[in-house]
Amino acid sequence: MGQSACREVKCGLCDVPDVEIRQICPPVRLSRGEWIAHMGPMPKTNMGRSGALVLFSGGQDSTVCLAWALDRYDRVETVGFDYGQRHAVELAARQAVRERMVAEFPAWKQRLGEDHVLEMRGFGAVAQSALTADRAIEMTEKGLPSTFVPGRNLAFLVYAAALADRRGLTVLVGGMCETDFSGYPDCRRDTLEAQLGALNLGMAQDFSLETPLMWLTKAETWALAKGLGGEPLVALTVEESHTCYQGVRETLHPWGYGCGACPACDLRAKGYDTWVASGRPELAG
Ligand code: ZN
Repeated sequence: MGQSACREVKCGLCDVPDVEIRQICPPVRLSRGEWIAHMGPMPKTNMGRSGALVLFSGGQDSTVCLAWALDRYDRVETVGFDYGQRHAVELAARQAVRERMVAEFPAWKQRLGEDHVLEMRGFGAVAQSALTADRAIEMTEKGLPSTFVPGRNLAFLVYAAALADRRGLTVLVGGMCETDFSGYPDCRRDTLEAQLGALNLGMAQDFSLETPLMWLTKAETWALAKGLGGEPLVALTVEESHTCYQGVRETLHPWGYGCGACPACDLRAKGYDTWVASGRPELAG
């Protein structure tokens, strides 16, 4: 990997034949498959197998991601993480979402495979935050909300990739999102692409990482739910998925259950209201 990998190309923007531009190769090619070319042929252990593993928390975003994956892949499995969340309600919502998807969407029933819950309480104990310890939800001195769990998505992806390897699944699907979000640095696409490159190198794999919500607003995520499964999927998402940081499920609001006051409820409610105000549009999956 180095200078020999660089090549010279015509610029393609003008008619002058002798104008050439030297492409600068980054030290590591991160997008799917490209890095293999630098290292000679490698066994394609994924050949002939196609399937997706959805990082599935039972929240609104990962519920829509699960529907998105079921719409695309013949075989879809889900993985959740028990890292000592304060509210077991999140883990309970996972089963409710899966069961209702199977009941209401026969085509998806054929595709939805096993669910896995990986125990990561040791990680939760190390990376304490407002979600795993009795601490107020506030902004920290680093400009991050106290709900940020350092390294959480990075750790999830390592576990998910190891599981996907063992299950013969080649696509990882996650609901990470740069838009409308609290600025979590491990939800950024550049963070995720760097980690995907490391996972593929370190596991001799050719995983792809799909983040269908990366550039969507919360209102557009509701539109995507409608595009994938119509109003029944919207209703399922409202009634079964869980987002509230406080774990409140007593009151059903138009946008779902929750305390209505925490940052997660606020984001979810505003997105829903914006989507409704714009006429409940659909976004193709
Ligand atoms: Zn809440």
